[in-house]
Amino acid sequence: MNKQFSERNRLRCESPNGFNHRLNSWSGSDWMVAVLGELGEAANVLKKLNRVRDGIPGNKETPEQLREKFSSELADAYVYLDLLCQSYDIDLEDAVKKVFEAKSEQIGYRE
Ligand SMILES: [Mg+2]
Repeated sequence: MNKQFSERNRLRCESPNGFNHRLNSWSGSDWMVAVLGELGEAANVLKKLNRVRDGIPGNKETPEQLREKFSSELADAYVYLDLLCQSYDIDLEDAVKKVFEAKSEQIGYRE
């Protein structure tokens, strides 16, 4: 993802013709609950994919529909994670690169 996405994400969040929701009108805890809510939705879909894996009945959706839904829920979580980061003036892309490079250095990984 990139900075352009973060800018668009915040604009849509705050715009009167978007969600009309000022970023800082929610606390970090509020945004975290939103992130975890989406991860919970993803986990529920993954539970159903585990049923597919194990041959357990009970799903109403096809495996293909479940995989698409799993992808969407993870993406929902990312959108909220980006907003959570912005609420703390954290650039998520920069933060990810920083920790990735630090861990690579720590374990002696060379690309
Ligand atoms: Mg969702």
